[in-house]
Amino acid sequence: MLITPLSSPVSATSSWSLCLESIREIVGPSSYDTWFRTTEFSRTPDGLPCIEVPNQFFADFIEEHFAELIKKTLTQHGIDSQGLRFVPTQREWKSMQPRAENAIAKTQVKPIPHPVECCSQFHPNYTFETFVVGDSNRMAHAASLAVAEAPGKTSFNPLTIYGGTGLGKTHLLQAIGHYAMTEMTAENVLYISCQEFTNEYINYVIHKKDSTSFYRKFSQVELLLIDDIHFLSGKPGTQKEFFRIFNNMLLENKQIVLSSDRAPEKIPDMMAHIINRFMGGLTTDIQPPNFETRMAIIRKKAGAALPDEVAQYIAGHITSNVRELEGTLVKLIASASFFGKDISLDMAKEIFGDVISRQDLRLTIDLIKKKVSEHFRMSVNQLSAHTRKRDVVIPRSIAMYLCKKWTKQSLRTIGLEFGGRDYSTVIHACKKIESEIETDAQMRRDIEELEKTISPLA
Ligand code: ADP
Ligand code: MG
Repeated sequence: MLITPLSSPVSATSSWSLCLESIREIVGPSSYDTWFRTTEFSRTPDGLPCIEVPNQFFADFIEEHFAELIKKTLTQHGIDSQGLRFVPTQREWKSMQPRAENAIAKTQVKPIPHPVECCSQFHPNYTFETFVVGDSNRMAHAASLAVAEAPGKTSFNPLTIYGGTGLGKTHLLQAIGHYAMTEMTAENVLYISCQEFTNEYINYVIHKKDSTSFYRKFSQVELLLIDDIHFLSGKPGTQKEFFRIFNNMLLENKQIVLSSDRAPEKIPDMMAHIINRFMGGLTTDIQPPNFETRMAIIRKKAGAALPDEVAQYIAGHITSNVRELEGTLVKLIASASFFGKDISLDMAKEIFGDVISRQDLRLTIDLIKKKVSEHFRMSVNQLSAHTRKRDVVIPRSIAMYLCKKWTKQSLRTIGLEFGGRDYSTVIHACKKIESEIETDAQMRRDIEELEKTISPLA
């Protein structure tokens, strides 16, 4: 199909609408809504075609992922795509006002100082400047920055960041709040963990018998950051209240950012309409950092004082959790200064010996037995005892299931390790647990908690 080349802004706009329709067909409605709904076609002062997008993050993302598609579509619609640019609409305004002036100008319009409570919610170290960006968290970081720059004005509302423990979710939520407060992109910012949210709600209901006042607390908030939202699982009352607050904020174009330890649709016992609402914004994950990112994190946290071989040793051994990476670094630096020695590879090996051997131990049958028996407050020996008492059989079946799932041991070995049982007993136990995970919320919670303690992400 060939359409008359653009000659006036009117035809440019209408041809771009046609292009958008074609693009929507190709990328699907969800991608379209996130990336294209707010775009406009225009021309630079020197006449080059350009697509206006909400901010730099959009510009970079669209250029990287959709430039070819857009060029092809423009050409199909008779528009010369040569020299196509992606331009943030906010750029002009931003570059015209240096930061300080910008802040002053805004202060004059809004002279009310931020309440101290608001600032103290944010950990001074959890900022965008201290966050190391790598392939594992690039999208989450970029989306967070976009939201911090223009809360409620992007299509990332709500923004949901999910991933395993110690991978930087809280850091990013805090960085958004910190940025919004210091750059004054939002006036009333609230960071709250889901646990605090739930406790407050329960408090209001029990002591004040009045959830309206609880609700009122959130009515002034422009940017709401709720950490660890998976904590709402299995709490229908709190979910209902959360949904009410959440909906009203979205209706008023106020920004919501959430974190979760898993993808929203995988949170058990969560109302379907809440999950659907999450899906209406942007959901992005954080993966464990790769070697290069781990090296960059170590460098950022330890500075240049750390010899390369030590940094490589640590990055090579602590692979899945930034919190652990940080903890071991602190231990190393503290110990070096305590003994008044320079940090060396030998010292690192000595200090990390226990951490690393702990990691090696992690996925052995012994470790699983230990964790399961601690969880059910029984002795390790009881797990192998020849009894059919339910309060032994269930933990034993769980332990067998976890061994099958997480160790490389054969069913025969697993059976032997649990009081010399036959491998068919192990199969039977695993099937039983698998089916109970589907039907029994308590079983799911037990397994999840145990998996957290035995997995490398713990
Ligand atoms: P989560 O909330 O995902 O469990 P946190 O945000 O608490 O993880 O991160 C754990 C620790 O690791 C924090 O001290 C945080 O500053 C640090 N951290 C995680 N990711 C990064 C990163 N990409 N760059 C710098 N520090 C990081
Ligand atoms: Mg956290």
